[in-house]
Amino acid sequence: MGNKFVRAVFPGSFDPITNGHLDVVKRAIGLFDELIIAVGRSPIKNQLFTPQERVEMIVELIGDTPGVIIESFEGLMVEYAARKKATVVLRGLRSLTDVQYEFQLAMTNRAVAGIETIFIMTSEQYGFTSSTLIREIASLGGDLSNLIPPSVQRRLQERYARLRAEKT
Ligand code: ADP
Repeated sequence: MGNKFVRAVFPGSFDPITNGHLDVVKRAIGLFDELIIAVGRSPIKNQLFTPQERVEMIVELIGDTPGVIIESFEGLMVEYAARKKATVVLRGLRSLTDVQYEFQLAMTNRAVAGIETIFIMTSEQYGFTSSTLIREIASLGGDLSNLIPPSVQRRLQERYARLRAEKT
């Protein structure tokens, strides 16, 4: 006890990363020796940015933080975690609604892979921030400066401008 190296994986879509995700990362850094932010491909979610673009955006923001690694992965998250020798899955919680789904996910991951999940509650000001809503607001040209970093806002503006140009 005490000197064991603990590596955690923070898996998610991060499409795109928000201040809420970054808040969870900031809080987690001191708790683990290494934190891998793992950008996944969800077969059911509609994705705006490619996994590579999502990784790039995160690297731009926090790529030089000691103990933080940013990667994308394919396939089952628990298999990825095992390959990386991570013993903890980190997830963020915004509300009681999140708990319901996350509880089920954590129980399933423990049942199938024996991996524990640790939750960190986001700061109140990001309790309603979701990547899905961010994409929706950005597609309509809204100002998101309180909820996402400026670099992410710029990427969103560029992406939606391009999508609009392609349509016409
Ligand atoms: P996923 O598709 O795996 O849900 P997300 O990128 O939506 O991927 O979320 C990744 C993790 O970050 C999840 O645990 C989610 O609950 C958490 N999360 C999402 N938005 C926030 C936020 N605003 N504050 C804290 N945690 C968040």
